[in-house]
Amino acid sequence: MTDRVGIFGYPLGHSMSPALQQAALDECGFDALYEAWPTLPEELEAAVNGLREANCYGANVTVPHKVAVIGMLDRLDPQAEAIGAVNTVVVENGKNLAGYNTDAAGFVEALTTEAGFDPHGKRVLLLGAGGAARAAGHSLAQKGIRSMHIANRTLSRAEALAAELSGLDTEASAIAITSPGLKERCADADLIVNCTSIGMQGSSDEGRSPLPEGVIQDGCLVFDMVYNPEVTPLLVEAQRAGAETLGGLPMLVYQGAAAFEMWTGMSPPIDVMMEAARAAMAKLH
Ligand code: NAP
Repeated sequence: MTDRVGIFGYPLGHSMSPALQQAALDECGFDALYEAWPTLPEELEAAVNGLREANCYGANVTVPHKVAVIGMLDRLDPQAEAIGAVNTVVVENGKNLAGYNTDAAGFVEALTTEAGFDPHGKRVLLLGAGGAARAAGHSLAQKGIRSMHIANRTLSRAEALAAELSGLDTEASAIAITSPGLKERCADADLIVNCTSIGMQGSSDEGRSPLPEGVIQDGCLVFDMVYNPEVTPLLVEAQRAGAETLGGLPMLVYQGAAAFEMWTGMSPPIDVMMEAARAAMAKLH
């Protein structure tokens, strides 16, 4: 009998996960299908319970269900609990559902492996305060950064995240993303991470950068979590300023690779997954 694994979200039309996960399952010789499971909020609980069926490894979870799914699980990994969002569900012992957040691991892996960046002792500017920013913020705090400024459209969300991270012994502060003070924060940063959806193709913010022109300095690394397009307006501006850049595609692959390893117990074929993600992206354009 063919095994099953998939992704819950809505809509799912542009998800890359089916392509990169199926490529990994095939490469490792699993008789398994990774499927897109478009799920409305009112359908989620029944769909999540359906994972307890035989031959199911678990699921990925994406927008808009990463928070709501938490209440439907039997166990939550401590890091997912701290972040407050789950993107991976693993079926344990054929019946128990455990929730993890592999965005955090994927973010750190992309940062260190692809950009060769060691966060220890560094000054960080985080743009955004949603689920992806919370994953990045918590994982950077665990890596011993020197300080973090969090800039968000809704200031109260940035303040809440800054307060949490300060409680973890990280010097953290919040600022509105439109504040004139952002220029100075950019100049001071060793690492700028865009965790907003600004610049994402198909969104109302397509073609835009989250930062005004001329504020990025050379000598810093600019990491844009947005993976479509691969080179976003923020990264174009960063390259023009002479900064190092990293796009969101490697993070997408590494967060998927961490999930694959949890489901299968096998070492993920990163190169195959990266190639499948690039091919899926090319099809979107
Ligand atoms: P989310 O929880 O909905 O948060 C969205 C964030 O973007 C919030 O901080 C929001 O500010 C901000 N934002 C949205 N539109 C804005 C605008 N017009 N002006 C200013 N700020 C705006 O989403 P998420 O899950 O954190 O995801 C954020 C982005 O990261 C998405 O593009 C997603 O695709 C990407 N991502 C990539 C990966 C990867 O593997 N590469 C993984 C996870 C997420 P407010 O708080 O004011 O609403």
